[in-house]
Amino acid sequence: MRTDPLPPFQAEAEIAVDFAGLDALFRHLADDHGLTLRSGHGRSTWVTVGEGEFGARQRGAATTLYARAHSADWLFTLQEAAAAHLADHAPDAVGLRWTGPAQAGALPPNFSLGRVASVERVSAQFVRMRVQGDGLDRLARDMIHFRMVLPSGDGATEWPRLSGTGQTIWPQPLHRPAYTIRAIDLAAGWLETDVFVHEGGRVCAFAQAAAPGTVVGLIGPGGGGIPLDDRLLIGGDETAYPALARIIAAQGPGARIACHLLGASADYPLPDHPGLTLHHHPRGEDDLARLLVAEAPDAGQFWLATEKSRLQPLRQAVLTSLGVPKTRAHLAAYWNAA
Ligand SMILES: Cc1cc2nc3c(=O)[nH]c(=O)nc-3n(C[C@H](O)[C@H](O)[C@H](O)COP(=O)(O)OP(=O)(O)OC[C@H]3O[C@@H](n4cnc5c(N)ncnc54)[C@H](O)[C@@H]3O)c2cc1C
Repeated sequence: MRTDPLPPFQAEAEIAVDFAGLDALFRHLADDHGLTLRSGHGRSTWVTVGEGEFGARQRGAATTLYARAHSADWLFTLQEAAAAHLADHAPDAVGLRWTGPAQAGALPPNFSLGRVASVERVSAQFVRMRVQGDGLDRLARDMIHFRMVLPSGDGATEWPRLSGTGQTIWPQPLHRPAYTIRAIDLAAGWLETDVFVHEGGRVCAFAQAAAPGTVVGLIGPGGGGIPLDDRLLIGGDETAYPALARIIAAQGPGARIACHLLGASADYPLPDHPGLTLHHHPRGEDDLARLLVAEAPDAGQFWLATEKSRLQPLRQAVLTSLGVPKTRAHLAAYWNAA
């Protein structure tokens, strides 16, 4: 039952989908991602995500999908997340019409445009891209990821817009992979992201060729936040190194942080921390999994991210062999080799 006040920004959509199925969907989602699940008298079920929540409510035969948040941009992000989960669960449930603060034709509230200010090499395989822009406040909260939306390349990019029913329309498909905000300065109006340069990467090619002033889209924030603990076990391949840097920098001085670098290189500039121990196992997800099972490290939080199939032995080790609950383990696929 709810006792805390409702978040002030709210949107709802009536849907022709059975409530029981959505109840099961949100329970599954909470279990899968370690989210807090809440329920109201068996007639509503919701998950909390960052500073907001989304869920479904039963009223007679009707079902209402809803999202609530403490800011307009996060509300919109949660609407999009709820809609995506609904589309997976009930692909035939078309015509979602949100009530709430939507303005047809405007840029979506969780989207803004920026301009590439500089690109510089920070290690053998990483370049740091600084993007200058307005409206970055939303990206300076607890969440550390965003999606970089690349221009179409022909000088005629059509950026996403809001439809009359409050959903994002993409007039043309634009490449938009997830990246990590390595640093952000709201007073100066820029953010920096570190791009791992790999074979065939479209963002890699863009970053290496972009002239200062090139326009790029920013969606977010999104993804997980920063785990805080006095005993952390963290690790990942190159794509996770910027997130590892953010996690290390955020810990208190008394924290003990075991950090396992799984990329081929280990020359990425990580911040100093008195409690940090670094271990390098190039492409060693299996080795790390064996080590975790053998040593059963005493960590309050586990945070690991790498390529999807290479994550499997780590999931098995942490969740199954060590029995760490999902609320203390963030295990994320950061890219897909398939
Ligand atoms: C939450 C989150 C945060 C992330 N943060 C960062 C970050 O800060 N910095 C960063 O560099 N990446 C980060 N990534 C990973 C990044 O989104 C992917 O690597 C993405 O595919 C890169 O897009 P691209 O345009 O360079 O490659 P694409 O054009 O999408 O892919 C081209 C080819 O490259 C392959 N590929 C993709 N990633 C790699 C890789 N790491 N090594 C080898 N081949 C690869 C693909 O399988 C594909 O065959 C993050 C991912 C997530 C989910």
